[in-house]
Amino acid sequence: MRKGYFGNFGGQFVPELLMPPLIELEAAYAEIGQSPQFRQELADLLHNYAGRETPLTFCPNLSAKLGFDLWLKREDLLHTGAHKMNNTLGQALLARKMGKSALVAETGAGQHGVATAAAAARLGLECTIFMGATDVQRQAPNVARMQVLGAKVEAVESGTRTLKDAINAALRHWISSQETTHYCFGTAAGPHPFPTLVRDFQTVIGKETIQQVQAQTGWPPYLVVACVGGGSNAIGMFQPFAVNPELAQVQLVGVEAAGSGRPGCYHSASLSLGRPGVLHGQYSMLLQDENGQIEPSHSIAAGLDYPGVGAEHAYFREIGRVQYEVINDRQALNAFHALSAGEGIIPALESAHALAWVLENRGRIPQGKTVVVNLSGRGDKDMDIISEINNRQVN
Ligand SMILES: *Cc1c(COP(=O)(O)O)cnc(C)c1O
Repeated sequence: MRKGYFGNFGGQFVPELLMPPLIELEAAYAEIGQSPQFRQELADLLHNYAGRETPLTFCPNLSAKLGFDLWLKREDLLHTGAHKMNNTLGQALLARKMGKSALVAETGAGQHGVATAAAAARLGLECTIFMGATDVQRQAPNVARMQVLGAKVEAVESGTRTLKDAINAALRHWISSQETTHYCFGTAAGPHPFPTLVRDFQTVIGKETIQQVQAQTGWPPYLVVACVGGGSNAIGMFQPFAVNPELAQVQLVGVEAAGSGRPGCYHSASLSLGRPGVLHGQYSMLLQDENGQIEPSHSIAAGLDYPGVGAEHAYFREIGRVQYEVINDRQALNAFHALSAGEGIIPALESAHALAWVLENRGRIPQGKTVVVNLSGRGDKDMDIISEINNRQVN
């Protein structure tokens, strides 16, 4: 495959001024990032600071109803409450070893901003987070968390004042500060080398899962499911399965957000409903109108609201290795409640999309099989949304 490409997808579609830091990052990752010393230090941070390995939890109550064995990979138990920390610790450690003194990052719902701010604090780096002005208002608790962790939060007033605009602002900031600053990109998208870098840091999820399923339950699993926003938790889970020819029969399903499902309401399903195009430096699938304008995405799960998706997912879809499906807000909410009340685990609304696909398709899964859902994050952050919906139903 061409360097920086996954089939026809990927690449580096960026202004000339962004090429030097991307080339510097690629070289540093190839040299420092692959060294045993780096790997050891990162493994230590992940274990002793962030709490890896995360458990693989059996769901006895839901499994009894479903007739097959449902297991959850518990990224919700990782420090700061989601898989994001796998990536931010990796990038922050790399940045420090490159001699950088600061991180810049974008955030939408605020989860990546919090994980970046925490990693920066831990590794002694300064931190600036760009966030759409609309999101700053919507996600006030996460803004407060970032500030407590020592980060500077910059509200972006351009465009739709959401994630897409925050990424553009962070990229611009990086151009002018590249000497001292690393751009800690939040998902497995963007220009090369980010899709590879972020994927590699997240594959700890899939690698642990393979070992845990082997040790704890029926091997190989029948089905592995993860939600897809930009695609980092899903690629981290899927890639170790996809590269192993012995696991070719394991079904991999990526679940995108269909939003409310009402006509005229935008969704976040770039793979299922988008077309190829360039966004944020890579050629991949994205939501765009007939003029190629990026359409705003919307889902009850703010973390799935990205109008594009990582290039490797576009490739896996094209070659048919991963199947991509959509789940709407109502279906995700049903799964959220089923897991909370059924097993005592409150999932992030993003992760609830992955579980919802399993619940909606239970009839297609043979009895007795092993099914693994990647529980990308915890749902405490979503309680305001849940209370609001409950109040609406009562009134
Ligand atoms: C950010 C986030 C996602 C979506 O991001 P990916 O890059 O697609 O993984 C999913 N779940 C949770 C809990 C998140 O915080």
